[in-house]
Amino acid sequence: MDLQRKIIQIIPKPYLVLLISTFSMIMALALDVVLVWILNYDYRTEDLIGAIVLPFLVAPVISWYTLEILYEVDRLEVEKKKAATYDSLTGLLNRRAFIQSCNSIFELAKRNKQHCCLIAIDIDFFKKINDTFGHQAGDNVLAEFGNIAKTHAKTCDLAGRLGGEEFAFFLPKTSLQQAKILAEKLLSAAKTAEIIYDNAKIQLTISIGIATTNGQSHTLQNLLKNADQALYHAKHSGRDQLSVFQPVS
Ligand code: GH3
Ligand code: MG
Ligand code: MG
Repeated sequence: MDLQRKIIQIIPKPYLVLLISTFSMIMALALDVVLVWILNYDYRTEDLIGAIVLPFLVAPVISWYTLEILYEVDRLEVEKKKAATYDSLTGLLNRRAFIQSCNSIFELAKRNKQHCCLIAIDIDFFKKINDTFGHQAGDNVLAEFGNIAKTHAKTCDLAGRLGGEEFAFFLPKTSLQQAKILAEKLLSAAKTAEIIYDNAKIQLTISIGIATTNGQSHTLQNLLKNADQALYHAKHSGRDQLSVFQPVS
């Protein structure tokens, strides 16, 4: 099935139909020749025409409809994979896909002794946004923050919605200093976002917690926990700010 899917993804449908029809014609002709040779049959021009014309009439119709089904299966398969990987509201990785992707990159980074950072983000007073402007307005805010996250994520970064109004960035090969620069940009982008709902402007602020591997041996769970702890600190220090996890020595 994988090979068929690869073929239909590479070759456009009309070309495939032409290819299948030509192949059927060649096979019909070859079969004709073999039968004539085996049966020692006196060959007539009508037989040759039949061997060429018949496949060329039947094969395009059958292959067109068969390919139609294959294309539909492929489209559904892509849709299913997308739904299982991305959060439909923000377009970011969903929790499961985020953790899964982080795990493999994290292990690789650990082996290569590279520094990684994790940024945990939580929208401030999001319940109040829902209560004041309605659930739809809340959804718009989440979608807007999804756009902000996508704009700021580099190709190698992972950005995900962990649930509700909680987001995270996993930054491979990134120093704490670089992570702080990104976090500052996110704080500022959230604050200056123009979110209008029903002619009212919604003010958005976020709180951020940052944790780094700092060359130490960590597990991803550990990193997530540390970033959460720093986020908790940012919330309790007044929100709309970042906080870096400080290990107790
Ligand atoms: P804090 O600053 O302490 O984070 O306060 P908060 O109000 O942001 O946090 P709280 O946990 O009290 O509220 C989060 C709210 O997010 C509650 C829940 O109804 C809402 N929420 C969760 N998922 C969604 C969603 O998909 N859409 C909308 N509109 N709201 C959601
Ligand atoms: Mg929350
Ligand atoms: Mg919140």
